Amino acid sequence: MVEKRTSKSKAKQEKMSGWEKLKGKYKEIDAYCKEYMKFISGVKTEREAVDYVKKVVDTLEGIVYLENRGKAIALWKEGKITPMDGIRIVVAHIDSPRLDLKVNPLYEDTEIAMLKTHYYGGIKKYQWLARPLAMHGRIAKEDGSVVDLVIGERDKDVCFTIEDLLPHLAQKQYNKKVSDAFEGERLNLIVGSRPDTGAKEDKVKKAILDLLKRKYNMVEEDFVSADLEIVPAGPAREVGLDSSMIGAYGHDDRSCAWAALKALIEAKDLPYTTVVLLVDKEEIGSEGNTGAKSRFLEEVVWDIGERLGSNIVPSRVLFKSLAISADVNGALDPDYPEVHEKTNAAKLGYGVCVTKFTGSRGKSGSSEARAEYMAWIRSILNRRSIPWQTGELGKVDEGGGGTVAKYLAEYGMEIVDMGPALLSMHAPFEVASKVDLYSTYLAYRAFMEEK
Ligand code: MN
Ligand code: MN
Repeated sequence: MVEKRTSKSKAKQEKMSGWEKLKGKYKEIDAYCKEYMKFISGVKTEREAVDYVKKVVDTLEGIVYLENRGKAIALWKEGKITPMDGIRIVVAHIDSPRLDLKVNPLYEDTEIAMLKTHYYGGIKKYQWLARPLAMHGRIAKEDGSVVDLVIGERDKDVCFTIEDLLPHLAQKQYNKKVSDAFEGERLNLIVGSRPDTGAKEDKVKKAILDLLKRKYNMVEEDFVSADLEIVPAGPAREVGLDSSMIGAYGHDDRSCAWAALKALIEAKDLPYTTVVLLVDKEEIGSEGNTGAKSRFLEEVVWDIGERLGSNIVPSRVLFKSLAISADVNGALDPDYPEVHEKTNAAKLGYGVCVTKFTGSRGKSGSSEARAEYMAWIRSILNRRSIPWQTGELGKVDEGGGGTVAKYLAEYGMEIVDMGPALLSMHAPFEVASKVDLYSTYLAYRAFMEEK
């Protein structure tokens, strides 16, 4: 009799939404999300994320960081058990889909000054047209000095935009496939239209060059040595009459980076030395010296060994480690339910989403967590009554995607994907549920604190 009742109530509990499960915790959810909204509104590039994290950690004791070229960073806290028995790792990425400026971007056409872009990551190009855009980034000069820019975020700032064809003259465009209707070479940023009346040709471009010189002490060739990123302008917003969601640029994946940072700061009595690894370049395949494919993590483990005075062999430590690939998933889409398989899709508001495998066409390109590791993850989430669910990105053969999990799995560690499920993923305005964001933080913290 008693046993029957227990199992019935447990089955019911599993289907509860995060809001039901965390009833009585709404104050904590709101406080967490308020702080997160401030972060996500101001931090829109990988460089800004690294700078932000350094600033926060500098004020704290007990957390050490190692930076990788201003675009990736690892922070860690010492645990009770020697690192030779393995460490805990939460890895998130801090780059997001956007438009990068080309190396020679500035030109004039139809007496409008424009900057050529090359998009970064998986975007639907039409989402970037006819909306306010901001420029964030760094210009490195020949003399070794740098200029950091953020233009377009404050009310008094100017902003930029990419124009779109008026519907009246778009008949030919309407008849094209969406993939052909919007071309990468037409994603040019409007930056000026007032001519230098004294110039002989390219009068508007000349005026813009003068302005760049005056305001930023910049010459045209400086674009060659710059990382300038075009992102949606403006802050994150609460979404819905009930304020239950947050709309923002870059939930993927800075919502996970933020949750991991918060969890590491708040986590107590860590059994294992715990690393939060924030990497760049995930959106283009984790390539390059600041991406997850670089050997930065090994460098971090060397650093841990040196600082703790223990004789560490990074490959052995990493082989024995447990990790979370902290990344978002796509939520069941009410307008396009046909791309999902409902039994296995994550739902908005049902807590942190644990994704056993990613990949596409028969799990190709996936890193799959094995049954035993999934069981342990499940047990720690249930032990703390954290809202969680599983997720699969779309129906079989519908498409798919990957994360950094497979690159860390190469070291032989246990790793599983975990993070909030989003609506409008990769759009300039992605939507996340507040309860999912908070559950993600709780889940990472449990992973750090549980044995
Ligand atoms: Mn991601
Ligand atoms: Mn992504």
